[in-house]
Amino acid sequence: MRNLAFTLLGLIMAIPTWASNPDTSLDSTTTEESSDFSISILTTALAETFPEAMIVAGGDFFKYRQLSHSAVLIEHPQGNLLYDTGLGRTIAESFEQNNWFHKATMGYTLLTPAIDQLAAENMSEKDLLAIIPSHLHWDHIGGLPDFPNTPVWVSNKVASLKEAVDPDHAPAYLTGLISGKEQWKSIEFNEKEYQGFSRSKDIFNDGRLILVDLEGHTPGQVGLFVNLDSGKRYFLIGDTTWVQRGYIDNTPRPKIVDWFNPVDWKIEQNQQVVKKVHDIYMAQPDMMIIPAHDEVAAKLIPHFPKRGY
Ligand SMILES: [Zn+2]
Repeated sequence: MRNLAFTLLGLIMAIPTWASNPDTSLDSTTTEESSDFSISILTTALAETFPEAMIVAGGDFFKYRQLSHSAVLIEHPQGNLLYDTGLGRTIAESFEQNNWFHKATMGYTLLTPAIDQLAAENMSEKDLLAIIPSHLHWDHIGGLPDFPNTPVWVSNKVASLKEAVDPDHAPAYLTGLISGKEQWKSIEFNEKEYQGFSRSKDIFNDGRLILVDLEGHTPGQVGLFVNLDSGKRYFLIGDTTWVQRGYIDNTPRPKIVDWFNPVDWKIEQNQQVVKKVHDIYMAQPDMMIIPAHDEVAAKLIPHFPKRGY
């Protein structure tokens, strides 16, 4: 997305069906073994405040939202992963590449970079097996320079950075964030259907973490299903939509975004992905579907250092 923003309507939208459905499996079935597999969100920055109508078609002009830039930590016995990084220590330097218009419309307030939140809990990049950016837009990899030695897994469709990072598509990509990265590794998807998506990758072959191809917003955007041992399920959808309303209503980004600040690589293809996410929303009310920037949906994931099991 880039940063946009908002608030109240989200509260209404965020009254999910699972909220009225007490999850009896939560702590009661959590075992000693399952405690080493968890999810946690690290909010690193907040975007400017925007009317919701500028974030999703059909949104209210009088309801304001303030999107967030986050990383999601997955702790797994075979290795810990960070899905997206949020914004990092050096983001101001990279952000300087933007022109005045983009600086004005994509401003942010830096909170605490992921690397520093981890450090406060005696963790470091040595504790990570890999970083998996949902895609390579600046507000998803803004913390990459803070993890110079951590492998970065990207879709095999973006393994060639020349294809992935279109210099003409400023300011979504800030080249300073990806230069010098020696640790890029290609995710080899299988032609195996999962939840309606034709390409998938079971990261540890245990059914807990499944990557799917969400190409459309960018080449090779990847989503992540997190199937916790308690039975709770998350679907992290990157920027397929910026807020829950997008997939709830199966509605695109506002036209004003396409006119002034086009962010989608292929709008129609992205909308097909939105429809698939919408279908999951309709068919599986217990699935917690999290757009990367939705500050309301983010509350469905325990905030680091708390963990969800
Ligand atoms: Zn994006």
